[in-house]
Amino acid sequence: PPAEKQDFIRQIVRQDLASGKHSAIRTRFPPEPNGYLHIGHAKAICLDFGIAAEFAGLCNLRFDDTNPAKEDPEFVQAIQDDVRWLGFDWATLRHASDYFEVFYLGAEKLIRQGDAYVCDLSPEQIREYRGTLTEPGRDSPWRNRSVEENLDLFRRMRAGEFPDASHTLRAKIDMASGNMNLRDPALYRIKKVAHQNTGDAWPIYPMYDYAHSLGDAIEGITHSLCTLEFEDHRPLYDWCVDRVDLAHTPELLAPLLDKGLPNEAAKPRQIEFSRLNINYTVMSKRKLTQLVGEGLVDGWDDPRMYTLQGLRRRGYTPASLRLLVDRVGISKQNSVIDFSVLEGCLRDDLDAHAPRRMAVVEPLKMVLTNLPEGHAETLSFPNHPKDESLGTREVPFSRELWIERGDFAEVPPKGWKRLVPGGEVRLRGAGIVRCDEVVKDADGNLLELRGTLDPHSRPGMEGANRKIKGTIHWVDATRAVPAEIRLYDRLFSVANPDDESEGKTYRDHINPDSRTVVQGYVEPAAAQATPEMRFQFERTGYFVADRRDHRTDAPVFNRAVTLRDTWMQ
Ligand code: ATP
Ligand code: MG
Ligand code: MG
Repeated sequence: PPAEKQDFIRQIVRQDLASGKHSAIRTRFPPEPNGYLHIGHAKAICLDFGIAAEFAGLCNLRFDDTNPAKEDPEFVQAIQDDVRWLGFDWATLRHASDYFEVFYLGAEKLIRQGDAYVCDLSPEQIREYRGTLTEPGRDSPWRNRSVEENLDLFRRMRAGEFPDASHTLRAKIDMASGNMNLRDPALYRIKKVAHQNTGDAWPIYPMYDYAHSLGDAIEGITHSLCTLEFEDHRPLYDWCVDRVDLAHTPELLAPLLDKGLPNEAAKPRQIEFSRLNINYTVMSKRKLTQLVGEGLVDGWDDPRMYTLQGLRRRGYTPASLRLLVDRVGISKQNSVIDFSVLEGCLRDDLDAHAPRRMAVVEPLKMVLTNLPEGHAETLSFPNHPKDESLGTREVPFSRELWIERGDFAEVPPKGWKRLVPGGEVRLRGAGIVRCDEVVKDADGNLLELRGTLDPHSRPGMEGANRKIKGTIHWVDATRAVPAEIRLYDRLFSVANPDDESEGKTYRDHINPDSRTVVQGYVEPAAAQATPEMRFQFERTGYFVADRRDHRTDAPVFNRAVTLRDTWMQ
């Protein structure tokens, strides 16, 4: 069994179970459905779902759909697909909007307790009154309205009597608090926007901190894991949970019973961890949305995108992303992970599991003149050098081959081990060939090589053991399948594309060589792939049959990652 993971959050969970504070644990993953998930979310998903699984607990998927303007059912569906693709499943699927009625009743309770008031300040005025880090804020002139007046106004807000932004419901906490989040934060705002789940039912929407903390309480979340930027929000999170106190106010949960949702109100604990940051990437939904909207990439699942959909189409495996999260670890220390760590995780996974195939990316014809015209045979190749269980495949071989243009040099550089005029090279699994003749057109362009196959060097023969410096890959030119090969590289050419000094933005750092499309040839067993099958193309890299465009009669392969790190700095 794999070693137990030992980060500080798992230690807390272990202690809470050992001490009997919780008999079972419950977590949630709370994405906002306003974009596709990105690789940063993979960390949160692996943590939320992973911890639940490791400790025999449950993890909910909860859509934090409290900001209707930017939300869309398209994202709701894609997020579910992505979570499942990563290898996880939820105990229950919820929407924060399932709880709007409870949130509303909770707000009326706060008003009755004198913990919340309706404020008529404009958004600009609220900002002005809030003060700064060094100066306390000022009380709103509406702060001391009576409970009756507040209730009346809040009910009229809910009834849709007031225009957007004319009123807010604010928590009455402390305008002099050193924590800006406690300076009478808004709990509700008026926003007459249709909601992807509740339609036009609500002209007011709860703010994130209020909805999130109560959502956790309603679902009986024991450990509410989130990223470090919410650390300053934790006092407000606790304030909302304590003041509304759903655990001791079951009548507030009545609207859920009507919907058949269980009543599990408990006191959740928020714990923060550091975000996943990787250099050479952008990871904010805003920027990813812009990349798509501005046509800088071909969509959310462009294989260069750092969305989970993009990484998937690029050829990343769920296991490689889970491995990344394990290698990076969980802590409160902010750091930036080198891109090579991400690529290394994919290489390690694919090296162990991806079948080998041969493909020629930049083809050069080689004719073996000592084989008869029409000669055709099939050779049996192992699918994996270290894993016999992956079996073997048939590879056609004939008189005419495609080899890699880059494996031939008329004037070889020092240390060259591959083919030269008059020189010999081993063809992977087929025998030793010599280059006898270099055929060129009138302009001196290379057309093809003509050579001979050493008949005593076929696999299994004594002569095959002869020492030859280089081995190259090849495909049978008569039976190989022409393929579109998309050579992808990092989308950004600088380590920190988010750096906006010198008046630049991430748009200015797009790597012009991030995609090169070439026509190559693949052996038939590669063409036969179903979409999303991944291979190592020997000596070339790891490739995936494109999820959308690949067909066995018109193969399309994406380079997921090169065999070795070529981005030495
Ligand atoms: P972004 O800031 O990129 O737009 P977000 O935080 O607004 O993302 P949410 O949908 O709210 O996106 O995020 C859902 C969960 O994923 C949150 O708990 C959030 O903390 C977590 N998360 C988002 N980005 C990262 C990251 N880079 N590393 C780890 N967790 C993340
Ligand atoms: Mg968010
Ligand atoms: Mg965010």
